[in-house]
Amino acid sequence: KKEQLQLLASVDAVTKDGVYFNLAANMNSIKELDIALQNGAKGVGLFRTEFLYMDRHSFPSEEEQFEVYRQVAEKAGGSSVVIRTLDIGGDKQLDYFSLPEEDNPFLGYRAIRISLDRTELFQTQLTAILRASAYGNVKIMYPMISSVEEIRQANVILARAKAELDRRGIDYNKEIQVGIMIEVPAAVTISDLLAEEADFFSIGTNDLVQYVLAVDRMNEQIAHMYHPFHPAVLRMLRTTVEAAKQAGIPVSVCGELAGDERAIPLWLELGVHDLSMSTQSLLRVKHRILNTKASEAKVEAAACYKLRTSSAVEERLTAFAQRSS
Ligand code: PEP
Ligand code: MG
Repeated sequence: KKEQLQLLASVDAVTKDGVYFNLAANMNSIKELDIALQNGAKGVGLFRTEFLYMDRHSFPSEEEQFEVYRQVAEKAGGSSVVIRTLDIGGDKQLDYFSLPEEDNPFLGYRAIRISLDRTELFQTQLTAILRASAYGNVKIMYPMISSVEEIRQANVILARAKAELDRRGIDYNKEIQVGIMIEVPAAVTISDLLAEEADFFSIGTNDLVQYVLAVDRMNEQIAHMYHPFHPAVLRMLRTTVEAAKQAGIPVSVCGELAGDERAIPLWLELGVHDLSMSTQSLLRVKHRILNTKASEAKVEAAACYKLRTSSAVEERLTAFAQRSS
């Protein structure tokens, strides 16, 4: 089975009736890039830069970061590499950067909030990413955006990083695309406003599910309530995709739901054809896409949007996936 799946690495991800998907990889470490490419990933849809900052004693320098980002950009060839700026806090801690004890770390000092507070760290990272953009198709993505101001403030630091590179006479892509993660309910509800400020959206279902349902993604006791197929989540997906389409910007999905083959009908119905997932999911999802008829899947998904419970949606999508395998 594994060998058979491996044969799909070089095959396009296209449904039986000709709908193409772009399947990119989520990267949690530099080692994963080779596996991703072996598994036929079309670029990196989510580069989790946290690992660069972990298992060490101090923040990585601009030079250290640049080396890694450049390597990834070059190895990906012309494919897009979406580099997400630092997303620590919440479940992710750094030994040398003592974050205050918090009652609700997932609602606290994390991700873009830290970057906008510690702007020198943020500018260093942005400078490194910008430098790498001269070596491939690099894009920037801000995590955990919940307001228009955050994008604007982040872009001020980005402009500073660009100005500094101009002063230093160092090359970078002046047209670099800057997107945001949609992973906070507020971002969904103002997605029409955010779409005017961002070049692309990437929906992070891991956090989005946690925040929409108020179910801590790390808490085992309530893991059974963590329901990606909850009707509230489905509605949030639709709102986000419609806002992106209205504004004419691309939208992709990079949370774990993208790697769940049962969700394929939802993407087809919404018209989302860009998915980024863990490297182990790529071939499995592609296999299912190859065995799916988009016309049938869309009918299923449309029916799912009318269902009233998570379990009804999940059962329906599971049954459809089994039928089309
Ligand atoms: C997400 O929240 O869905 C996501 C992709 O980011 P992370 O899992 O790193 O929080
Ligand atoms: Mg997230």
